[in-house]
Amino acid sequence: MFSIIPKNDLSQKLRLTRFFIAAGTYLVCIGITYISYYVGILRLNLSLMLVWCGAILLINMVFYIIFRSGLNLVFKEKSLTMPQILVATLVAMVMMFFLEQARGVALLFYIVPLSFGVFRLRLNQFFILSLFAFLCYIISTYLHFLIYPENFNTQIEMLLGFVFAIVLIWFSFLGSYFNQIRHLTELQAIYDDLTSVFNRRQLFKLFEREKALADRRGSKFVVCIFDIDHFKKVNDTFGHLTGDTVLRELAQLVERNLRNEDYIARYGGEEFALILSYPEIENAIMTAERIRSVVESSIFHHKNKSIQVTISTGLTLYTPTETIETTLARVDKALYRAKSKGRNLVEFEPSPSGK
Ligand code: GH3
Ligand code: MG
Ligand code: MG
Repeated sequence: MFSIIPKNDLSQKLRLTRFFIAAGTYLVCIGITYISYYVGILRLNLSLMLVWCGAILLINMVFYIIFRSGLNLVFKEKSLTMPQILVATLVAMVMMFFLEQARGVALLFYIVPLSFGVFRLRLNQFFILSLFAFLCYIISTYLHFLIYPENFNTQIEMLLGFVFAIVLIWFSFLGSYFNQIRHLTELQAIYDDLTSVFNRRQLFKLFEREKALADRRGSKFVVCIFDIDHFKKVNDTFGHLTGDTVLRELAQLVERNLRNEDYIARYGGEEFALILSYPEIENAIMTAERIRSVVESSIFHHKNKSIQVTISTGLTLYTPTETIETTLARVDKALYRAKSKGRNLVEFEPSPSGK
């Protein structure tokens, strides 16, 4: 059955919700147009005003159809923020022209569309939109000067233009600053600050996803945890900051040694988890062995210190429909064995299927 806002696609749902907020703003704009007409400050007769309101409704219908049909998905920026703001700016410019003596009020209309770009647009995009808005403003003012020169007060117009330019510049910086903060918050929710690999939270999300896929298809994947050997000694000997550098460089080193379809995440302190999409344990053991050997033969540098470390690795095959805790318990067991057998080793724990 048709629904005004799609229920199953969260991103499209958000885009359409935002569209309706914008459409609500346009309705307010129509209301103001009518009031201005009613009190006689709008330079339009009734039929022209109705055409204008119809045009605004048409614009909204076109955007609604684009979003609801999914046509927006073919564009790189699927929210169509820039086109929507550009159109709204044009609407504001025409409104401004019609409002004539109350033109100053219409300047506020320019700011409303721009505010939809907050959290979304970068500084250069804000500048393009601001420049466009200012250009529209100049054209509108110039037309006003040509057609109604008797109502034109140069000093007031210059003041308006100056204040408008300042507000646009200020808005561009603030808006793009919000966007940066949003971007940073999104990154921090996924990545570990120190090592730049996925954090523990994201690891479990990925794990849940892989589990859901594997449970549906009856397929398998490998979970692996490695722990740096005697890392406390690195900290004690070289200092905590050096320890941090080793953690960072080691995580990056391992990440470079993985295929695109595999994941690395920081599991905790000096422990990292890998999700390897191998259907058999043998290939995963070979990968873990290769990583162990790469780490062993690497030298990490911090200031003028050179540090070498080794890792102990435990791994197991995920068996469809078992809980994440069950899988992790087997990985832990394997890792513990690798440590107790003398470290710098890869150990695996067979899954219930015997592999
Ligand atoms: P083992 O071979 O048994 O794993 O010995 P270990 O010393 O590595 O193990 P232990 O768990 O006793 O110590 C882990 C150390 O890792 C202790 C802690 O100070 C250090 N560590 C954990 N997180 C960080 C971090 O973010 N930065 C630094 N520099 N050290 C960390
Ligand atoms: Mg540890
Ligand atoms: Mg350790």
